[in-house]
Amino acid sequence: MQTGLSQSCLVCKQSSNTAICQYCCDDLTLFDIDRYQHNLMLSPKVNLGLPKVDFPQVLALADYQWPLSKLLTGLKFSKQVPNAHALAALFVKHCLSSIPILPQLIIPMPLHKNRYLFRKFNQSIELAKHICNLSKLDMDTSIINRCKSTPPQTDLSAAQRRKNLRNAFEINEAAKQRLKNYQHIALFDDVITTGSTMNCAYRSLRKHNPDLKIDVWSICLTLTG
Ligand SMILES: [Zn+2]
Repeated sequence: MQTGLSQSCLVCKQSSNTAICQYCCDDLTLFDIDRYQHNLMLSPKVNLGLPKVDFPQVLALADYQWPLSKLLTGLKFSKQVPNAHALAALFVKHCLSSIPILPQLIIPMPLHKNRYLFRKFNQSIELAKHICNLSKLDMDTSIINRCKSTPPQTDLSAAQRRKNLRNAFEINEAAKQRLKNYQHIALFDDVITTGSTMNCAYRSLRKHNPDLKIDVWSICLTLTG
């Protein structure tokens, strides 16, 4: 985040030599990663909020809350790319700097190609790109594809979301072969809400490589449980 140049804090707009100033950083309430050994599924609150998922591990920066929510929506809907670097830097510092074993690869959550062509922007790829650069990891955006154009999930119940997502992801033959080269990867999305999209992608990957260890990462969790 350090640039050496005076700039405006992305949150409070005051002059700062980092993308998010120290005051705003100090105000953030982040998950206690060490307490849960880099696995927030061990947190009762997170576990209750993600009751119907198969993945055993999840790592995130914080609850979906201001100002992270502002930075995420600015990235997603207004393509405010500097937000991606700032959020990725926070994630790497808070969640990855003390992690015992890093995965070999990050796979960002894909958008359906129609939606991608329409928006020409996938915020999860933008974030994952910076996380990879900062932590020297590889990223692959071609292993899983979204083959079903699902409507935005925001207003749907958890049951509707699951129905909506049935067979939503596909892995082609070349990708299945490539997947065999890995033992440990991370699936990444900007925000996890019910976990149903993530779970669907997780299950698709596991089906083709049952021994693959898959970590689940996101910037924020929006938990209602
Ligand atoms: Zn600030």
